[in-house]
Amino acid sequence: MLITLHKSAELAHVRSELVALGLWVEVLYGEAGIVHLRVLPHSRQVAAETVLGVNGVADVACARSPHPLLDEQDASLRIAGVEFGEAPVLIAGPCAVESPEQIAKVAARVARAGGSFLRGGAFKPRSSPYSFQGHGAEALAWMREAADEHGLRVVTEAPSVESVAAVAEAAELIQIGSRNMHNQALLAAAGSAGRPVLLKRGMAATVEEWLAAAEACLLHGAPSVILCERGVRGFDPRTRNLLDVGAIALLSEVYGLPVIADPSHGCGRRDLVGPLAGAALAAGAAGLILETHDAAGEALSDGPQALSPVELEELAGRLGFVARGIGPRAALSG
Ligand code: PEP
Ligand code: MN
Repeated sequence: MLITLHKSAELAHVRSELVALGLWVEVLYGEAGIVHLRVLPHSRQVAAETVLGVNGVADVACARSPHPLLDEQDASLRIAGVEFGEAPVLIAGPCAVESPEQIAKVAARVARAGGSFLRGGAFKPRSSPYSFQGHGAEALAWMREAADEHGLRVVTEAPSVESVAAVAEAAELIQIGSRNMHNQALLAAAGSAGRPVLLKRGMAATVEEWLAAAEACLLHGAPSVILCERGVRGFDPRTRNLLDVGAIALLSEVYGLPVIADPSHGCGRRDLVGPLAGAALAAGAAGLILETHDAAGEALSDGPQALSPVELEELAGRLGFVARGIGPRAALSG
């Protein structure tokens, strides 16, 4: 935003009014004694009309937002009957769907912990091509059945353009993984499937790059996008990633966007998932993704960061998620 002052304006006065609005400015002296103020990026989001109302301001020019569709998206969303942006939403499940028995067992515990969505990778894009790559389409069917049995929605990753149709058919929410946040062809395919998208932050993506990727999903037809902070690459291997709690606060407080946190991938260790989950909610997260496994020691992927079902229930209770009884198709509203 570029603010132009009236020639008669008192710079100190205008500046203090702007600071009171949460705007920090750089003073630029133009031709013929005209003073412009450039609003700095760490300012609050303030409407141009409000700035125009400040005594001494002659004009306000705003660059077009690089993500107009995202700006229009409401902070509160309803996806398959689940409200995001009101009470926090719990998404939980294993890193990978390993067998029908495993996903059924975990689904029961996710429902009991107050979960709304069952997560689990059917297609697993792994950093190593020698690691377990997922059971594919079969696993989607196992997960769908387990979720339906317990009144849960499904979120699962589509790692390739070819996988989008199968994922959109089996899941209410299409996950785009961190390794794929910059994959424009995949963002377009996921958007055009017409399902809401859960967009994980690229592990080295800036917030602006992340928002641009969200915009691409909306532009190609996604009805809504939920952003997921899952940690960025840090310099210290003692934690797997650095959960960027500041980005959660920025997106939810400043941009008014629904952002959920994945503390499991954020730290990579089960003992830190609880504290980081609490921190993410305190920063404004609209929900959590918590990896949960019924036998983490034998997990085919991400065992060290998986909570046991008992730990999930205990943590969810502590964070205020309301447990629902186990039961066939325990109804979620809507
Ligand atoms: C996952 O959710 O299991 C996953 C692979 O996450 P990410 O894309 O954040 O690494
Ligand atoms: Mn995982």
